[in-house]
Amino acid sequence: MKIISKALFFVLPFLLFSSPIFLSRQEINYTIVIHGGAGYISPEISTEIKEAYMISLTSALTIGKNILENGGSSLDAVELVIRYFENDSLFNAGKGAVFTSEGTHELDASIMNGVDLSTGAVAGVKTIKNPITLARLVMEQTPHVLFAGEGADKLGKKFQVEIVDNNYFDISRRYQQWKMKQQEKLKGTVGVVAIDKDGNIAAGTSTGGLTDKWPGRVGDSPLINAGTYADNNTCGVSATGQGELFIRNTVAYNISALMKFKNYSLQEAADEMIFNVLPEGSGGIIAVGKDGNYVLVFNTSSMLRGAANSNGIFEVRIWK
Ligand code: ASP
Repeated sequence: MKIISKALFFVLPFLLFSSPIFLSRQEINYTIVIHGGAGYISPEISTEIKEAYMISLTSALTIGKNILENGGSSLDAVELVIRYFENDSLFNAGKGAVFTSEGTHELDASIMNGVDLSTGAVAGVKTIKNPITLARLVMEQTPHVLFAGEGADKLGKKFQVEIVDNNYFDISRRYQQWKMKQQEKLKGTVGVVAIDKDGNIAAGTSTGGLTDKWPGRVGDSPLINAGTYADNNTCGVSATGQGELFIRNTVAYNISALMKFKNYSLQEAADEMIFNVLPEGSGGIIAVGKDGNYVLVFNTSSMLRGAANSNGIFEVRIWK
């Protein structure tokens, strides 16, 4: 009898903690995925440029991973990692944003909270140093969802976010690209999706849009359902690519909808939108599911991207 109860003492906890109830919550505690734009970067780019991107992606991912590891929220991880990208001129978001056809910069950003589908976005801002922070303020401090143009810049002043002159965003590489009327092969929009230890999903996207875009043009990045989406019951998504195509096909929301209404897995839903609905060469998405699994899917030759989770995954890549 004694032997049996001793055996049970050791075996019971093992049986209990390896039961599916515990495993499903224990398997992945948190996950974060990031992108720095989809495009066609030649594999022959200089090692210097390649290293600069790898270092920056690694730093961004580390910031997000540390927040989640320490029990921080997915919303904080999304906002702070995007702020990092916006301050890094390598990317087409914040400093380093592309030029419009008039030689100015107009920035777009959005963020969404999968807990309650609350969301905030700004489009066409010209003076906001970190548009993602203003998008979060729209979500948390106003009764509205999307502010555009002058009204959005004014709101930034009201909330006392950092204001800059429009030429703060200038960098010479983007200027040359605009002068030569070239779409850069590497576009550089940024996005982050995360699930935290509480199982809450958040997603965000920030961009300068497309080089030489007409003034006033708004892409998919500030549009919830097209460029960004998050729902704790399905997944979170951030997109990058030819915004007009992502808007027409409601890409981010449709990935969630395929899971919700058609029982698709995250991978199946993302593949459906990126490979079967969108034309080849249009872009890609990053997404995290409610179980913590993630996908990084694109139909271009490259997408700057990374992923990290509580199970020790930490990967940063450019090509397939
Ligand atoms: N989707 C962005 C836009 O159309 C651009 C990009 O992701 O490269 O504004």
